[in-house]
Amino acid sequence: MGLQELERDGWILACPFCGKDIRYTLINNQQIPVPFFYAENGNDVLLRKQDELKVEEVFRDAQGATPNIDLLERLWLRILEDTPEAPCGGKYGLWANVKCPNCTREIPYNDGIRNISRRVNEPKIVLVDGAVLVRDSVESSWRVKVKIKTNT
Ligand SMILES: [Zn+2]
Repeated sequence: MGLQELERDGWILACPFCGKDIRYTLINNQQIPVPFFYAENGNDVLLRKQDELKVEEVFRDAQGATPNIDLLERLWLRILEDTPEAPCGGKYGLWANVKCPNCTREIPYNDGIRNISRRVNEPKIVLVDGAVLVRDSVESSWRVKVKIKTNT
């Protein structure tokens, strides 16, 4: 797959399980709530304009009120039903989170506390080195390359 590679500044986190370095960068999910999902078997992230538009529709229907969280959860799940296979293989998941590239163990989202309101309004997207940010088309998708700034 001819994906463009995008280099971004990032940080290093020691894996809580194996202690090896996890290189990652963050992107802001600027207009929350916007649906994004981590792959269940890897660190690829799905973030599509077409899903954002579905949320806008729900907000428009709510006419200025904040849509009910149950309604948003159902929308998130409905979007998940209609997603392509992740580049790393497998599906995306509502509660899937980043995994250590070394030991492959998943760091539980929000310490394992499944708070749907928090999840729907999550402003930060974590991109681990080598992960693919999947957009609406292959042309607009990219693989992240994390560059660590060193203070020497
Ligand atoms: Zn690890």
